[in-house]
Amino acid sequence: MNDTLTIALSKGRIFKETLPLLAAAGITPADDPDSSRKLILDTNRDDVKLVIIRASDVPTYVCYGAADVGVAGKDVLMEHGGEGLYEPLDLKIARWDLKIARCRLMVAGPEHSDSGRRRMRIATKYINSTRRYYADRREQVEIIKLYGSMELAPIVGLADRIVDVVDTGNTLKANGLKPLEHIADISSRLVVNKASMKMKHARITDFIDKLRAACEN
Ligand code: AMP
Repeated sequence: MNDTLTIALSKGRIFKETLPLLAAAGITPADDPDSSRKLILDTNRDDVKLVIIRASDVPTYVCYGAADVGVAGKDVLMEHGGEGLYEPLDLKIARWDLKIARCRLMVAGPEHSDSGRRRMRIATKYINSTRRYYADRREQVEIIKLYGSMELAPIVGLADRIVDVVDTGNTLKANGLKPLEHIADISSRLVVNKASMKMKHARITDFIDKLRAACEN
């Protein structure tokens, strides 16, 4: 039986903010993914490995069992659908009042705009969440998929509004945009492969319990 616990993480903010929680669970990476080119990182424990992947790929790796557990933003999970995954923990450091990679999924745009389009055009990389949001409001909009720099789209007339994650709001402000509608509060979640949960039950429940305790400490 494969006794290794494989944890999927993405570089940057999620990795940095998850480190203290992993440390509290007794896991320390052997390398820093920001300086190492390795995609599989060893840890202080022979039976725990980290795979470093794009944030939007974490649900896919965990869903297919290529990683047993992972840390993914709620924005990514909402977009993916989260099928085949358990989502047992909203990751936070309670004593610092810090939710891991906290932000908000929002509709943003110029304060005043009238493009004359019959249907509002929304640029986003979150096409599923955006479709669901406007369908719930019974608003007919045209959604166009972008992969980044969404803030540019209203400036150059590509779209009337954008749907993106907003933290401080500085990026919107710097581009003359305002947050207009709140779609969802976002933070990072621990996700677990359903088959791993059965096959490695003791390992994974112990890991979840330690992370939960670290979150509440
Ligand atoms: P801000 O200027 O602080 O509102 O940050 C906004 C920019 O950072 C946007 O381009 C977002 O795509 C990105 N961003 C902010 N928070 C997060 C997060 N928790 N996860 C991923 N991207 C984020």
